[in-house]
Amino acid sequence: MHSYPDVKLFIAGEWRDALSGKTIPVEDPATQDIIGKIAHAEKADLDLALDAADKGFKVWRETSAFERSKIMRKAADIVRQRIDYIAWLMTREQGKPIAQSKAEINNAADTIDWFAEEARRTYGQIIPARFGGVSNMAIKFPVGPVAAFTPWNFPINQIVRKLSAAVSVGCSIIVKAPEETPASPAELIRAFADAGIPAGVVGLVYGVPAEISEYLIPHPVIRKISFTGSTPVGKHLAALAGKHMKRATMELGGHAPVVVFNDADLEKAIEVSAAAKFRNAGQVCVAPTRFLIQDGVADQFIDGIVKYAENLKVGNGLEADVTMGPLANERRIPAMEGMIQDAVSKGAVLKTGGKRIGNKGHFFEPTVLTDVPTSALMMNEEPFGPIAIVNRFSTLDEALEESNRLPFGLASYAFTGSVKTAHALGQRLEAGMLTINHNGLAIPEVPFGGIKDSGYGTEGGSEAVEAYLETRFVSQMN
Ligand code: NAD
Repeated sequence: MHSYPDVKLFIAGEWRDALSGKTIPVEDPATQDIIGKIAHAEKADLDLALDAADKGFKVWRETSAFERSKIMRKAADIVRQRIDYIAWLMTREQGKPIAQSKAEINNAADTIDWFAEEARRTYGQIIPARFGGVSNMAIKFPVGPVAAFTPWNFPINQIVRKLSAAVSVGCSIIVKAPEETPASPAELIRAFADAGIPAGVVGLVYGVPAEISEYLIPHPVIRKISFTGSTPVGKHLAALAGKHMKRATMELGGHAPVVVFNDADLEKAIEVSAAAKFRNAGQVCVAPTRFLIQDGVADQFIDGIVKYAENLKVGNGLEADVTMGPLANERRIPAMEGMIQDAVSKGAVLKTGGKRIGNKGHFFEPTVLTDVPTSALMMNEEPFGPIAIVNRFSTLDEALEESNRLPFGLASYAFTGSVKTAHALGQRLEAGMLTINHNGLAIPEVPFGGIKDSGYGTEGGSEAVEAYLETRFVSQMN
């Protein structure tokens, strides 16, 4: 049997308590037991982390891409070897079913491998010169020490994209990991340490998120920010980054439409989109939120998704047959209840779910509502929980108008048998990501990011590496 550890800060290659000795408790969302504590960093700890990141960067940027890649691939292998323990930690602190924790960890290892390879190909350019004896060179350099802020819904995957991209090109990074789910990300950092990454290249801190971001972002050592979380917090941090002329990647909220046409393979549409909806209890930035179903198949779709929701087994994610865990923290329960009450009071029909389950653990019923008016709060703000909104549409234009109505533009899904419809969606749907007739999102080699209020920058594919590089130009005459 595993035991849940007390989690320390990782600064300058050492695991350490906070200088003040302060700690933050960690709760198991399935039992509400306090299962451990984490070191609570304050300014003095952050100063040590910044100094280490500065020194670590100077060592790491001089390390060849070939060598960096080898260390990263070793870290990926260590993560794979320790998957059972790390998955147990993740489920204990976050709640998701153990199979989902394992999938997240395997995906993390693949992400490390992919960036380790990709960064060996960060080519510059030789630009034809106007005069003999002149060489014009565009050279790529790592941008410098990075500060990363990540949330609790994917404790490891939200970090591994930033961490892998940063260190693959020679940046150092300070990760402010989620206080709600601290132990599994600490194991990710430990894998890099055990693989031999030099001291200071990777730092790990926890504390009060606003205090840490407000100290790190303006600090002269930090050259790049990457944040994943809600749009309001993202706007605040982007403004701070702008004020201090720091590069930033912002991975913010979404409100994904799922557009299902009469000519779709309906069984597949239900299976794929409902699975994506209720994965991680709906606490996913790319989770389907507004299901827009064409008139001819709407009743069948509703029956199917209600059945799917009612067949989910909600419980402690450590139990083998559980398919949906608790919400990750107490505050998500009133958030769900408030949104459901608001929608029903405005005329929405509650088809299934709608309530908290029991009074211990943050369990909530998988919920389906239909006929939800656009005035309802849940039609405008991310529910970030196990709520499916199912509405009807008649024409492609109507579906696009509703899909593009909100300021968000992160993920979107569609199901259709028509190549013409698929093409129109690809051209006109305002989203950073669109997946048609399957769920093809969030693998390391493809772009992952939003447009409009969902943020900027991508955390997957070759552009994700560029985000940690700067281009410098050197013109040299012999
Ligand atoms: P929240 O807005 O309090 O926090 C969201 C995340 O941002 C947390 O990880 C938090 O630690 C961090 N954060 C908050 N203020 C910060 C600051 N000033 N500096 C740095 N980090 C800061 O919300 P919450 O209750 O934790 O989650 C609820 C909402 O957050 C959800 O409704 C959802 O919209 C959003 N969220 C999005 C993602 C995502 O993957 N995009 C993940 C988790 C939460």
